[in-house]
Amino acid sequence: MIRQKVWNPDWIEDRLQQKAIQLRRPLSCIFELTYRCNFHCKMCYVRMDDEQAASFGRLRTLDEWLDMAAQIRKAGVFYLTLSGGECTLYPGFETLYEKAARMGFCLNIMSNAGAYTKSIRDLFRRIPPRNVAVTLYGGCNETYDAVTGDPQGFDKVIDNIRFLQSLGIPVKLNFTIIRENVLDYPKVSKTAGELGLPYNLITDITQHQRGVSLYDARSSRLTPAERACIACHPPQEAALAMENARELEKELVHFRQPVAPETLPPSQQDSCIGSHTACAIMWNGDMQSCISMNGYHPKKPFDVGFETAWAQLKAEQEETFRTPSVCQVCSMADECLQNCSARRFEGTGIPFEPDPYTCQYTYLLKKYKTINYKKEQAK
Ligand code: SF4
Ligand code: SF4
Repeated sequence: MIRQKVWNPDWIEDRLQQKAIQLRRPLSCIFELTYRCNFHCKMCYVRMDDEQAASFGRLRTLDEWLDMAAQIRKAGVFYLTLSGGECTLYPGFETLYEKAARMGFCLNIMSNAGAYTKSIRDLFRRIPPRNVAVTLYGGCNETYDAVTGDPQGFDKVIDNIRFLQSLGIPVKLNFTIIRENVLDYPKVSKTAGELGLPYNLITDITQHQRGVSLYDARSSRLTPAERACIACHPPQEAALAMENARELEKELVHFRQPVAPETLPPSQQDSCIGSHTACAIMWNGDMQSCISMNGYHPKKPFDVGFETAWAQLKAEQEETFRTPSVCQVCSMADECLQNCSARRFEGTGIPFEPDPYTCQYTYLLKKYKTINYKKEQAK
């Protein structure tokens, strides 16, 4: 959240952000180029078949994206992230990437790193991105098969990560944990260590954004108790964490969903930096402040132009990014880390409605830390 950010005036990125916030101007943008993907992950929030996608619009053409890139560059955007689906599968990816680099963007890639052709590798060799964020889905081919449907997925991904590293391109790793891969946590941790890369854990899984996934993400995601236990144990204790979760689950009988007081209005302070200076344009042309807000009052930059769409977003800024009154008075608010407007929207369809999944997780995490603390004290 923006209030907690410690700004470093000697750091050019911080100064750019501060200036952009002050001027209410865009500084970073995500182009979600496609819903298509080489993987078929069970918890995916974006992947669709072409038939499913047809009712939500069409993929934008290369010329449309190039024109949009020129518009956002003119508007002041410096950081451009290409995402998907798997963005490298977008038919015009290479041309868009190269021309965007020549426009002066600082380019980031979000990718599963499972489908780089020789041509994509040559492109990255000639024009390296600033960084590539890669999400891992397991620590071996068997688990990749179970999660993504690709029995050679792990080998391909590691090979491509090593390729990126050989070019000196910084790689950021995430590990998305679901029921099918949670016991691979030690292997993933070992792999990341061998690659010399830190990684973020992602256990907070939400439904497909358009409700058309082939799978039900809720049946694959960890329960709040499992998430809490996984968060508190080191990777090699993943099995123990899952076992302990069964006991922790029982604590939910004491949980009460926090309730909003009738008299307290929502505050207008709940905003991350991105809510001020970022935007995301989805494959069908809808625009919001971030990918997670996809579907909430979408703006249409391909129809009205980027500047008009940006002005429309900013006109709704205070209304969209506010803290619900229930969260203002909640005794767990300090421990509740994944509770922004976008996350609430993903979980409930309303930016101002806390997601019980988040609340239960926060409650159990606090409880588990207390139980462990007491155990430590008793030793
Ligand atoms: S790799 Fe990413 S975009 Fe592709 S199916 Fe998996 S979660 Fe979805
Ligand atoms: S989302 Fe977090 S702060 Fe809001 S009510 Fe739930 S636990 Fe409390």
